[in-house]
Amino acid sequence: MPIKIDYKKCCWKNGKCISCSCGKESNCCRGCVEACPVGALKRAKKVEIDNKKCISCGACVSACKKNAISLI
Ligand code: SF4
Ligand code: SF4
Repeated sequence: MPIKIDYKKCCWKNGKCISCSCGKESNCCRGCVEACPVGALKRAKKVEIDNKKCISCGACVSACKKNAISLI
């Protein structure tokens, strides 16, 4: 697994953003998903990663204002 998501820090919970502070749009957590150049992240009930697509570029780590993602 190339990245680790700390779901306690991530504000996308149960299919919605509980904070809005990481995004450009209200009521919508924007950041890691848009930053990923290969579409490896998606927002479902929680943020999910497709390990087969991830190229370990670190863009999502930089994009997350909650410091919820780390490269491992
Ligand atoms: S940018 Fe950070 S806080 Fe927002 S969905 Fe991604 S991991 Fe969660
Ligand atoms: S490390 Fe890069 S490729 Fe992997 S999920 Fe994050 S942004 Fe996408």
